[in-house]
Amino acid sequence: MNQRLMYETHSHTPLCKHSRGLPIEFAAAALEGGLAGVFTTCHNPMPDEFDSRVRMSAGEFTEYLELVDRARRHWAGRVDVQLGLEADYLPGYERYLEHQLRFAPFQYVIGSVHPHLPEYGRRYADQRPEDQVATYFGLLAECAETKLFDCLAHPDLIKNELADDWRPDDCFDTIRNSLDRIAATGVALELNTSGRYKRIAEMNPFPAMLAAMCERGIPVVVGGDAHCPERVGEGFAEALMQLEAIGYTEVSYFINRERRGVPITAAIESLVDATMMAAV
Ligand SMILES: [Zn+2]
Ligand SMILES: [Zn+2]
Repeated sequence: MNQRLMYETHSHTPLCKHSRGLPIEFAAAALEGGLAGVFTTCHNPMPDEFDSRVRMSAGEFTEYLELVDRARRHWAGRVDVQLGLEADYLPGYERYLEHQLRFAPFQYVIGSVHPHLPEYGRRYADQRPEDQVATYFGLLAECAETKLFDCLAHPDLIKNELADDWRPDDCFDTIRNSLDRIAATGVALELNTSGRYKRIAEMNPFPAMLAAMCERGIPVVVGGDAHCPERVGEGFAEALMQLEAIGYTEVSYFINRERRGVPITAAIESLVDATMMAAV
């Protein structure tokens, strides 16, 4: 009997206005893909109409909790459906987030710095490319230092905003400094497989940054950032093999805001077994 070990740790709902499918359907896809479960982590409400076109409103928060709860009850005993949240980080909103995160029993909270969103652009888009890189990686470290989040999503997203000027070798000291600060907090970083659909088509973060994370003992969580059921668990086997090749021995997820580790070899085997069983 195949033991399911991996979770889709990052998935969205139609409430953010750029995702398709309900948590109940994402859970079905998780079952089919050989996963133990799925975390629904949709974009959090923010005050003052902060990028309101890509997130649920404060008035929809209860509906969000109900969507996840309905899926949880429907799949109980078969697929583990967990309540999470992807929360935006920009300086000045810490108190708001602190309050918001007490509103419901979130099992897993992702902190995100989203440089493609207008609210971010208003503050920083005028900077020279090298300063934008420094700003982004500085914010990422600050985000970890708030201790509001379990894990930081897609931690090199800035590269897609300045793709023509992206020279990771030139800014690697900046990245190392950011990772030193993040490592000191104990907060995890995500390997986000959906980066393959972005302008610089590779998972986030890029391999050299993953290696620098591994050297510092930063826990890593694999997430598909699924915006439709078909993308649940997409690229997970490849992501795990990449982590193993870099030197990671364990992949993490969070339950009740506490980190749990899964040996990578066992995680890969669980996915291979599931694929073989599906083919029978
Ligand atoms: Zn995100
Ligand atoms: Zn996301």
